Amino acid sequence: MHTRSTILYLVVPCYNEEEVLPMTAKVLKDKMERLVKEEKISSQSRVMFVNDGSKDKTWSIIEGLCRQDKVFSGVNFSRNFGHQSAILAGMMTAKERADAVVTIDADLQQDIEALDEFLEKYESGCDIVYGVRNDRNSDGFFKKKTALAYYKLLHILGCKIITNHADYRLMSKKALNTLAEYKEVNLFLRGLIPQMGYKSDVVYFDVKEREAGQSKYTLKKMMTLAVDGITSLSVQPIHFITIMGFLVSFFSFLMIIWCIVDYFSGHTVPGYATTLVVSLFMGGLTILSLGIVGEYIGKIYMETKERPRYIIDSIVWDPEEEEEKKEDGKN
Ligand code: UDP
Ligand code: MG
Repeated sequence: MHTRSTILYLVVPCYNEEEVLPMTAKVLKDKMERLVKEEKISSQSRVMFVNDGSKDKTWSIIEGLCRQDKVFSGVNFSRNFGHQSAILAGMMTAKERADAVVTIDADLQQDIEALDEFLEKYESGCDIVYGVRNDRNSDGFFKKKTALAYYKLLHILGCKIITNHADYRLMSKKALNTLAEYKEVNLFLRGLIPQMGYKSDVVYFDVKEREAGQSKYTLKKMMTLAVDGITSLSVQPIHFITIMGFLVSFFSFLMIIWCIVDYFSGHTVPGYATTLVVSLFMGGLTILSLGIVGEYIGKIYMETKERPRYIIDSIVWDPEEEEEKKEDGKN
């Protein structure tokens, strides 16, 4: 049970979000104030923006917000590391001071009012609360279909993933400390977190249109995330290759016997089409298999280097709290 009032940190990844940020800041601040007033969270709760190497004025807006109001804090990356790294950095930084952390996108697509329910579940003992979207009506046709097909594929590959849960999620300090033990570079949080096995629950929410600006998830970023998801969670694709290899070898063996029998019985057929089809098929299969194996080797290569998953250039906290922290350190 959580006896004292919860210190909640909202972690907000931002990549080129200058258009939406002022409005987001206002909405989040209002919500935090209301939650404090209703005594659902402690007044030491904060909103933490993580600037993921934006090329626009995002960071100077965040700095301005931090100066204006101590409810805001900011983490600045040295360059763009991607959404997953940004939320990881935010959670790892916030966990030093927070009892619970909620990650939420900067564009306010995820309904902030679901926070009350997140907190209720947390108070009742959940260490992880997943936000699950009610529908995908705000997505385009392409995104809707590909996203659903992707979740299905992950299920077939045996990954425990929660369908229609993106990264709107509450995690307790305990769960965050466990997450800190996972050192992998190939990061797919929404697949990894359910593996931790802590008590969890889901909260449903409606997805809205983006308040301003455009999606920061380019097709390339989305494809990378999709491949990362599979390679970080499952080695099934490599098993499929092995099985396919066995089957193809078996049929080739039958074909050889057939050819020899044909030869000795004097049927020398031209067989142009068969040869072409078989060799094209085999060529395609070989290259595809090499590609899949290559993806994994690439991931192993990256993992063995153990490079930092993100580089923080600077952090802006509330100055008073910073002092207290230092005092605590001395005692
Ligand atoms: N984002 C990020 N780094 C990136 C791309 C996106 O931190 O390289 C952030 C972005 O600012 C937003 C969140 O990730 O807060 C989700 O992005 P977006 O809303 O553009 O994705 P969509 O909702 O279209 O999938
Ligand atoms: Mg969005």
